[in-house]
Parts: sequence; structure tokens; C-alpha cells
Amino acid sequence: MSKNYYVVLAGGVGAAKLIEGLANVIEPKLLKIIVNTGDDIELFGLKICPDLDIITYTLANLVDKEKGWGFANETFNCLNILKRYYDTGWFNAGDQDLATHIYRTDLFKQGFSKAEITNLICQNLGVKSHLIPMCNESVQTFVTTDSGTMHFEEYFIKHQCKPEVINIHFEGIENSVPVKNVLKYIEKARKIIICPSNPIVSIGTILQVKGIKKALSKVKDRVYSISPIIEGIPVKGPTDKLMKCVGLEVSCIGVAKFYQDFLGHFIIDNKDCFLKPEIEGLGIKTYCYDTLMVNLEKKKELAQFIIKV
Ligand code: GDP
Repeated sequence: MSKNYYVVLAGGVGAAKLIEGLANVIEPKLLKIIVNTGDDIELFGLKICPDLDIITYTLANLVDKEKGWGFANETFNCLNILKRYYDTGWFNAGDQDLATHIYRTDLFKQGFSKAEITNLICQNLGVKSHLIPMCNESVQTFVTTDSGTMHFEEYFIKHQCKPEVINIHFEGIENSVPVKNVLKYIEKARKIIICPSNPIVSIGTILQVKGIKKALSKVKDRVYSISPIIEGIPVKGPTDKLMKCVGLEVSCIGVAKFYQDFLGHFIIDNKDCFLKPEIEGLGIKTYCYDTLMVNLEKKKELAQFIIKV
């Protein structure tokens, strides 16, 4: 018997759009959101969890809606001085954002786990959904590029995804295990929704945490996803470069093939509807919808479609 909650697998900005929609069409407390922590990084002596923060600030209605990350009405006074001390000033940590990183780092020092810290941050910022890091262990995504090996955030922000990616490596992933009860949540969820996030470095990391893929494949008929690729192009970010790097075709078909073992239902954009028969040939029920979430209405419509379909 499935329960009435939904499990959501999420990265950052792409995921946050759908999650904002979901939290507007169902009770936010029905969402159990498993968030990628492969982007986590330590800078200025502080523990930073970029994807967890994006989802938290979005659900707390504090996010900068233009950028999709960080706080609204942010200032960067502290960063301007940090830049004089550190050469990692390329990371856009605003003054309010730094408060979260200080609080998180303080709690880590006191011995709290990443999951416990996430709960405390959410409670304090008024988030009703249950945010869960993909694991408590440290996992860090590194990319080897034609300009050298670097942390994914450095590639993404400092180098603006320009270097050619030759290899992707999730350091520490072999020691990662899901947070307590996550596999049970997947087993019992009404639906499991994989956000339109980067399949390689957002969802791909979560999928490599021990037992997650197997848990999803057992409930395949309840696993739903939305393609982050429309007409062969990502809406934003380096998804195309990373898909190519792992030998995937950059299209909703490439994403479907990557998720094939555990995906029961796939929502592709209306513009890609001619590809529906090919994806159905992989044994995945396929639906066409307007998946470009340009405003809150569109986010809510897509979320409603996923809940009802
Ligand atoms: P990041 O970690 O901040 O890059 O964010 P995610 O991994 O969650 O999402 C990145 C992916 O979201 C990219 O592949 C985008 O193509 C996809 N994306 C962003 N906005 C939209 C949208 O409105 N519709 C769809 N279908 N995909 C989107």
C-alpha cells in the first residue's frame, strides 16, 4: 500500500522550478525531497551545500527569483573582503547566504549530521517540506577538463562551463549510503518524481548512492520524470556537455535511456512529441506537455499534470 506522500529527486535550479510548482498545488508537507549533495564544497572554511540551499530558499520563499539561487535582495559586502583574503572569491556567496554557511559549519563542528542540519535550517526558515540530503557522507563532484581537474562548482561558476569535459568523478560516492528511511520512503511513496535536473551531475549522483537505483526499479510503475532537454538543447547549463561526455545522445531519448531501468513514466516537451513512439519502445509510458516553466503558472500547471497523470 502506497502512502500519500511524494518523493522528489532534485538538483538545484531546474528542480526548484518544479518543486515551487508542486508546493503550490499540494500540501508542501507531502513532499520528501532527496537533494543532490555532490556539488557541496568547503570554501572560506565554511561548509556550502548549493543544491540544498537553492531548494530551501525556494520553499522558504526567500530565493532570488530572477537568478533562481541565493537570497532575494542580497548584498555582497562580506564577499568583497573575502576576495582579498582568498582566491576562491569566484563563489557568489552573498551576506545572507553566508549566514546559512556559518550556521551549517557551526552545527557540523558540534557533531550534527548533514540530514540533521538540513532539518534545523528548514525549521528555522519555515520550510514545511522534508528536505533530505542524498547522503550524510561527503561526496564531491570533480570534472577533468582540457584545463585540468577541478571541483564541479569551479567549472560551473569560475570557468562558466567553458573547458571541455573529459571525465566526471564523484569522489567519496562508494562510501555513501542513503539517509535513514529514504529507501522506505521510496518504497511507500504515492509517486517518485525525478525533477528536470541535470541527469549526470544532479540526479546521476543521487542514483549512485547505495541502494537508490534498486529501490527505484522495484517501484518503476510509480517513477515519473520530466525531460530537462527540449528540442535537443538544455534549458540552461552544461547538461548537453556532460551527457556527451558519458556517451549519451543529447535529447529526451538520451535522458530516457539513462533512466530506462527504473523509469515508468516520462514527460517530454510538446515540441519533442514526435519522439514519443521511440521512448515508448523503451517500455516507458510517455506524455507530451509544455515543460518550459517560465513563470509560477507554468510551474503549477506542470506540477498539477504530474500529480494527476
Ligand atoms: P543546477 O544543479 O542548478 O544546474 O540545476 P538542476 O540540475 O536542477 O537543473 C538543470 C537542468 O534543468 C538543465 O538541464 C535544464 O535544461 C533544466 N531546466 C531548467 N529549467 C527548465 C524548465 O523550465 N523546463 C525543463 N524541462 N527543464 C528545465
